[in-house]
Amino acid sequence: MADTLIKVDLSKQATTNEMVHNRWHPDIPMACWVKPGDEFILETYDWTGGFIKNNDSADDVRDIDLSTVHYLSGPVGVKGAEPGDLLVVDLLDIGAKQDSMWGFNGFFSKKNGGGFLTEHFPLAQKSIWDIHGMFTKSRHVPGVEYAGLIHPGLIGCLPDKKMLDAWNEREVDFIATQPDRVPPLANPPFAATAHLGKLTGDAKAKVAAEGARTVPPREHGGNCDIKDLSRGSKIFFPVYVEGAGLSVGDLHFSQGDGEITFCGAIEMAGWVHMRVTLIKGGMAKYGIKNPIFKPSKITPNYNDYLIFEGISVDEQGKQHYLDVHVAYRQACLNAIEYLKKFGYSGAQAYSILGTAPVQGHISGVVDIPNACATLWLPTQIFDFDINPSAAGPIKHIDGSIQMPLSQDL
Ligand code: ZN
Repeated sequence: MADTLIKVDLSKQATTNEMVHNRWHPDIPMACWVKPGDEFILETYDWTGGFIKNNDSADDVRDIDLSTVHYLSGPVGVKGAEPGDLLVVDLLDIGAKQDSMWGFNGFFSKKNGGGFLTEHFPLAQKSIWDIHGMFTKSRHVPGVEYAGLIHPGLIGCLPDKKMLDAWNEREVDFIATQPDRVPPLANPPFAATAHLGKLTGDAKAKVAAEGARTVPPREHGGNCDIKDLSRGSKIFFPVYVEGAGLSVGDLHFSQGDGEITFCGAIEMAGWVHMRVTLIKGGMAKYGIKNPIFKPSKITPNYNDYLIFEGISVDEQGKQHYLDVHVAYRQACLNAIEYLKKFGYSGAQAYSILGTAPVQGHISGVVDIPNACATLWLPTQIFDFDINPSAAGPIKHIDGSIQMPLSQDL
């Protein structure tokens, strides 16, 4: 078995772990070093560092301080990696921590982060998903069980200073266009809750003031939340600093395209078994700005879908020009309305779309004025028939089980 280079103890605060960080900055010290060709294992906290608990209250989802996330394991230095190289990462396997065979899904309050459908679901809600080998089911969302499509929501290499400055500048400028928006347009650096591995004192203060938040995906990859970047994938990351500085976290047992619930997919603490190699000068050789990857040879075998269409006309009937964000939202809302006819609450249906291996497709972006997006709902995850028929929908879900909901304070 490969060596476990980073361990996490779920009984201890993530901020006590010197091989974990929650910002991006080139001066975060490498947690450990490997050589090209090495295989190793990194354990990770869940993205909140254990803040969300396995219980029947959504108060933790309502109350979380989102400036604390994401807790990432790393950075791992790779000997010989130089700016301009490609770091090739094979995700050999990924799993949940043995002492934590469960995950969570939730919707943030609109006042604390929100989510894709926050106008429709403005309050904090949560569902807990138990992991049974390669399958998961929830005591809060009956009638479904899925095979895991296990992946890291967040993985990437450290930026160099020039790239970091560009990120901070463009995001801070963007926030200034609508500074009072709820939820905000983006999140600027925030020193108070920065955790930067073993950095302390003045060195830490400088990096904490400048470190980019981990929320958005950026040129280096980062928080892409791509469900198909799953165990068995091979990823090619741009390298910006000596040693590359690879970090990973935010593991998901399963997720639908878009991670629409935002808190988040089925979030879990776990481990990643990986191998790294280098393509020297690979960025210029292949014209690569953002990561590219090859999907896994092993994925859940769902091959029957009910597909919901959405167009870029919003809930108020307003026309939008080729807007795939509006179109995908309509496809999701259409799927939720449909699932409610089988007895699900809107929240349970939303949770299914956030956690199941739902596919989202940009289907048309040229037929003015409407973009068309589709949401592909796998029918085989349900323990009853969800297809339309002349007999009409049968209420399989009786409403006696609901997801915990917390009112805003
Ligand atoms: Zn996540």
